[in-house]
Amino acid sequence: MRKLKYILLLLIAISCTKEVEVLNPVNAENVKKIAELQSQLSSLTSLISGFLSQNQNLTNERNNLVEQLSSLQSQLSTLEQTNLFLESEVDSLRIKVAELALLISYEIGVKDGIYDLINSSYFITHNNDLVYGNDKLETDNTSELNYGVIENGVLKKRTFNLNLDINSDSSNKINFKQWKLGYGITNIETKAEFKDTIYVSGVDEIIIEFQFKSDAIINDDLFEDALIKEAFKWKLNRGLSEDDVPAQTFLEINKFITENATNGTFTDPIYKNIDVFDPISLREGFILDAQRNGLDISYLRDENISIETVDWGYGAAYGSPCRSGVIELYLENDWEPVIDPLQNIVLIVMFHEMGHSALNLDHNTINEDIMYPSVSMKNLSLVDIREKTRRMFQNIEQVSFDCGFATQKGGGKLIVN
Ligand SMILES: [Zn+2]
Repeated sequence: MRKLKYILLLLIAISCTKEVEVLNPVNAENVKKIAELQSQLSSLTSLISGFLSQNQNLTNERNNLVEQLSSLQSQLSTLEQTNLFLESEVDSLRIKVAELALLISYEIGVKDGIYDLINSSYFITHNNDLVYGNDKLETDNTSELNYGVIENGVLKKRTFNLNLDINSDSSNKINFKQWKLGYGITNIETKAEFKDTIYVSGVDEIIIEFQFKSDAIINDDLFEDALIKEAFKWKLNRGLSEDDVPAQTFLEINKFITENATNGTFTDPIYKNIDVFDPISLREGFILDAQRNGLDISYLRDENISIETVDWGYGAAYGSPCRSGVIELYLENDWEPVIDPLQNIVLIVMFHEMGHSALNLDHNTINEDIMYPSVSMKNLSLVDIREKTRRMFQNIEQVSFDCGFATQKGGGKLIVN
């Protein structure tokens, strides 16, 4: 019975329990979910808390960095200012050094030495108007190297470039670099209103200017009494000595031409053998040319001939007529002509002087004739020279001095007239 009671009770209990479970199943499920959510919330909260703490660290770090950046920027700005200041200091020091060097250059004056030509200008003014060229000395405008020698503060000599056809091959011209005295222009100092200046224009830099008055023809227009001006800028070449300059004197160049030329006057059997600046050679060539034109002046072989260099400043060369037993020729010291076989002005000038001193001829008034007082630079080919000398040796339209044509020693015998 007791056992039954127990079972019965149990049954009731079971049925009671069973009844509760059946009555509220959702609630239990929710309780479970809530527990889960609470656990998730708790871990999220802990996560967020972690994040928050990390975020705070990052914010701190960021703020630190911003502060550092700001400090660096301010340091940079200070450095930039310092740098600007230093740069301007350096600039101003540089200017001071340049000014000082220039001042010293002015103080020392024109230094002796070898100079490179770095600039030149040539221009002509007429009644103060620029009628030719450019009066500005621009920056370096020279394409070919040229040198000048400054001695005792003046230009002693300088080089010029020459390009000559000595073999009748215009595609194979020979280049020469010639030393010339001073300006390299004969008689320039004797021209009206001649003026020259030399002055320091910079460190190791000088300018040489000169001017003179002369008639000028520009594009067929004649400008009377025009003012010709030239200016040259030179820079001291400290590494160079005069011996290093690859240039030759006119005599050295003429020696090469006389030995090597095969065209123009060098095709003539007499002229090709004449060394014009050698007195004996010149006299012999003159005698042979006279003979070729029918004049016997072989007696000149018994006369002394001399060529003297002078500084008279009014011509290129001179000859003195009516001297007994001597032939006297004179060369102006700054007449430094190079022989151009195709327009041989050197030969014609020396024969003109021989006309004075060996034939006693005065100047005549026939333009382009050999005894005309000046020689033009044209009509000096071999054919022209042969015609001019023929007229001289055959005494055609010539003017003699009082001592008479070719009468130095008994007179020349004119075979053909
Ligand atoms: Zn003369």
